[in-house]
Amino acid sequence: MTTTSSAERIGSGAGYEHAAARGTHYIEEAVRVYLMRDPNGTDTWVVDPASFDEPLCSDYNQPLNPECRCGDSADCNRVRWRMAEVDLPDGEELMFLLAAARGYTVIKTES
Ligand SMILES: [Zn+2]
Repeated sequence: MTTTSSAERIGSGAGYEHAAARGTHYIEEAVRVYLMRDPNGTDTWVVDPASFDEPLCSDYNQPLNPECRCGDSADCNRVRWRMAEVDLPDGEELMFLLAAARGYTVIKTES
């Protein structure tokens, strides 16, 4: 079985510049991905299984917008609160977001 993602590549630079160039609000969040020492005993990091199947924990506790360049704080805050209702990704969904942001395509193979 093969799974792919084709989400938009945003590119490099500051996120608020991309939002401003498109005339949209820059609303930011941050998530925590839990890592753990390799359970096979090697001194390497692996992703803790707790990072999958549930939304990742916010590092901010709520979406933020202080970097937005829109100049319309009322509308910006409305959008910010709408984004507070959008589930954060779990680890697998985050993998697709990271891949798309850098122009990669993710392919899952059964082995
Ligand atoms: Zn804004």
